Amino acid sequence: MNLSYWEQQSWFSKVNYCVIGSGIVGLNCALALRQKYPKAKILVLERGQLPQGASTKNAGFACYGSVSELLADLEHHTEEEVFNLVNQRYKGLQLLRNTLGDKAIDYQQYGGYEVFLNPDQKRFEECYQQMKRLN
Ligand SMILES: Cc1cc2nc3c(=O)[nH]c(=O)nc-3n(C[C@H](O)[C@H](O)[C@H](O)COP(=O)(O)OP(=O)(O)OC[C@H]3O[C@@H](n4cnc5c(N)ncnc54)[C@H](O)[C@@H]3O)c2cc1C
Repeated sequence: MNLSYWEQQSWFSKVNYCVIGSGIVGLNCALALRQKYPKAKILVLERGQLPQGASTKNAGFACYGSVSELLADLEHHTEEEVFNLVNQRYKGLQLLRNTLGDKAIDYQQYGGYEVFLNPDQKRFEECYQQMKRLN
């Protein structure tokens, strides 16, 4: 890309922070930097004309892990690690809601459901038995 002198001077010089990627993590990072350093020059670089990652393509569920997902996590992490992970996800959702506002993100609290197909009967029963422990 050929940049003019003015483009280089305006956007790409004297940058204090450069964030790579304009997904939900990159933009929240840039926002946190702006709040902490109001005068800093923050550059967000995105490889696509629109964000190319999962943030603009996902299902939009405000979730912190279904029963089977948490049980899968427990196969590789201790209970304490999984508890902390869920805690971070929950706090992240609160932060997102506080930052953007429920109206702007059309937040609706319907609880969570996990669907099992008939061939997954065994998995369903395992999950069902573990629900009390997870809660
Ligand atoms: C199909 C699907 C459904 C999902 N559903 C949900 C859901 O319902 N609820 C939920 O909470 N989560 C869901 N997720 C997960 C969630 O979308 C991701 O965890 C989240 O979007 C990740 O955000 P991110 O900013 O880390 O990454 P991304 O959104 O992937 O952003 C990374 C950005 O960096 C850019 N980039 C990468 N490399 C470079 C480079 N070298 N230079 C410049 N730019 C670069 C990419 O183009 C991209 O825009 C889903 C994910 C998928 C794939």
